[in-house]
Amino acid sequence: MAQTTPNHTQTVVGWAAHDSSGKISPFIFKRRENGENDVTIKILYCGMCHTDLHYARNDWGITMFPVVPGHEITGVITKVGGKVKGFKVGDRVGVGCIGASCLDCEFCRDSQENCCSNLQFTYNGIFWDGSITYGGYSQMLVADHRYVVHVPDNLPMDAVAPLLCAGITVFSPMKEHNLFQSPGKKLGVVGLGGLGHVAVKFGKAFGLHVTVISSSPSKEEEAKLRLGADAFLVSTDPTQMQGGARTLDFIINTVAAQHSLGPILELLKVNGTMVLVGAPDKPLELPSFPLIFGKRMVRGSILGGIKETQEMMNVCGEHNITCDVEVITPDYINQALTRLNNNDVRYRFVIDIASSTRVPSKL
Ligand code: NAP
Ligand code: ZN
Repeated sequence: MAQTTPNHTQTVVGWAAHDSSGKISPFIFKRRENGENDVTIKILYCGMCHTDLHYARNDWGITMFPVVPGHEITGVITKVGGKVKGFKVGDRVGVGCIGASCLDCEFCRDSQENCCSNLQFTYNGIFWDGSITYGGYSQMLVADHRYVVHVPDNLPMDAVAPLLCAGITVFSPMKEHNLFQSPGKKLGVVGLGGLGHVAVKFGKAFGLHVTVISSSPSKEEEAKLRLGADAFLVSTDPTQMQGGARTLDFIINTVAAQHSLGPILELLKVNGTMVLVGAPDKPLELPSFPLIFGKRMVRGSILGGIKETQEMMNVCGEHNITCDVEVITPDYINQALTRLNNNDVRYRFVIDIASSTRVPSKL
């Protein structure tokens, strides 16, 4: 049953998981009226992040069912509140993972809403009015404009959608580690999925030497030919992994499942850093020797701030960077989740939400 919250008067068609089977079915629910700081967005496309799968199956034990996943949203503004600045009806916009934050802490004041201790997500979060948030697997969204970004005119709305989560999640740590000003530096990308393939694209756009570390030998050719990766290591092949020892300056680890960090850490040079962005439900194995020999570091990173998300969007506009997507209709969501689970997508499913509202011109 959809929640009832005063002011939540707008009926929306969406798609939700109702229990940890993760099966998605159509779901009618209510959204709030457009408040003075809000914009209403007609959703055109929504990417399917591996996080959606984690939530739909309650991998992390924190899902509030029914959950309407989706935090890689693109669409067009249909309404703006009285206090909204910088957006107007008709604008092409995107919404990522952040649905609300306190707006007052040191992080929010410094445009790092992603680090706010009161961060609330676009779905499975609690909004300021106490309602549970519902995401982008739906036809319409009401979003506070402070968490909305513009989509550059030259970029297509479907292939842009995954930038709102996958893109910013890899852009932010790469920027923080000055990789965009360090051509020739050696970047390793572990896991060639939604996040990983965007990291390869950013790396190549900024002149880095990019090595993909993958459990899928079948991805080598496309990693090199299509995405422009310079090298490819099969993570399950000890000889290849040992051959890459001490070659990389920086690693982004996007793997969504439990694995040992030891063999990957060995790929780093002395003082190298691995940033973990993948979020497996079980603890990762972290042996001490590869850490202490080579003085290596492991750290994490979550999303990016809204200002930084807009910056990333603009960079993508300038460099013509978009995601490799397979566009699906809403009736294919369950098959897509199964294929995502089976590592069978190159590299992101994007739901054509608007297709569900289109009336066929000929019957
Ligand atoms: P994805 O498209 O499924 O890609 C994950 C990749 O990990 C796969 O393509 C695969 O690459 C590799 N992998 C190896 N073994 C795997 C296994 N047993 N199960 C699944 N993947 C395996 O996922 P994604 O959307 O990029 O998300 C990756 C992770 O990042 C998820 O855990 C997600 O929740 C998390 N995430 C974190 C943040 C953050 O802010 N930190 C933001 C978004 C997502 P190979 O075939 O190349 O090995
Ligand atoms: Zn995501």
